[in-house]
Amino acid sequence: MDKPIIGISSCLLGNQVRYDGGSKLMHYLRDTLGDFVDFYIICPEMECGMGVPREAVRLVRTENGVELRTVNSNQDKTAQMIEWRETKMEDLKNIPLCGFIFKSKSPSCAVFRAKLYDTAGHAISGNSGGIFASRFRELFPSIPVEEEGRLFDNGIRENFIERIFAQFQWKQLIEGDHSLNRIMTFHARWKYTLMAHSPVGQKELGAIIGSAKPADSESVYSEYFPRFMKVLEQPATVGKNANVLEHIMGYFRENISSDEKAELVDLIRRYQDHLIPLIVPITLINHFVRKYQPSYLLDQNFLNPHPLELMLRNHV
Ligand code: SF4
Repeated sequence: MDKPIIGISSCLLGNQVRYDGGSKLMHYLRDTLGDFVDFYIICPEMECGMGVPREAVRLVRTENGVELRTVNSNQDKTAQMIEWRETKMEDLKNIPLCGFIFKSKSPSCAVFRAKLYDTAGHAISGNSGGIFASRFRELFPSIPVEEEGRLFDNGIRENFIERIFAQFQWKQLIEGDHSLNRIMTFHARWKYTLMAHSPVGQKELGAIIGSAKPADSESVYSEYFPRFMKVLEQPATVGKNANVLEHIMGYFRENISSDEKAELVDLIRRYQDHLIPLIVPITLINHFVRKYQPSYLLDQNFLNPHPLELMLRNHV
């Protein structure tokens, strides 16, 4: 893998696969994120044999559970979808996916908010995940998923893409030998990112590795990663990021002049006051890292978590 592979609902890339022959192109995904990831494209409704164009479907709560039914003719498409879906899930076990971006509100693809109807066709309270996306989450709980609509939120977008690149690094790590040394190096590189999400989580992960013996390394790998991804799911806040910046500043205590220190302290304070984005103090710190080469910081993901061109930290 040269780039992370991301699953994506086909219509989001502009493919005309929706029930009415249209698409739901999201330019950011195709034209910006698409330069840094490879997409694995899926349209559950088309690929399970419903064709394009097709009668629209919706989720209907029945006495047998939630079914996928056509809107006008009330045909039950559940079995057709599930048969295709289960084969597809087996295929996906062999694809090193680092994330999945699903189309919101779709009865097949939504992650959080597909509408539910009763058998008379009335919308009822509550939402459901789509019939494909829900099963994906069940089988691949550590793979980050998002809906395209939520990616307009700068914080959610930054968090999601950070987790994609975390998955990518992990998948590269586990291709090699599963020694304790390698996972310790991985953990060290993510130390300050983990601290920005959850200082408690960062310590707990450190304890898993710190107490392990070489003979346990396989079980450490299995235990570590799901918990690592859970920690990254917790939002990094301005306060926690500022705390990390202050920790990192300590590495330069012996090197930087009092003027340089005052400038960095001032930038961290302005960031805390929401006057400047995170990228500003990070840029100055990266300048000091290049200048003074503190070995522990050279590979810290917190300082370079994803491609700069995505400009994700210009808005958080
Ligand atoms: S939302 Fe999903 S099922 Fe509907 S057109 Fe898009 S990819 Fe296909």
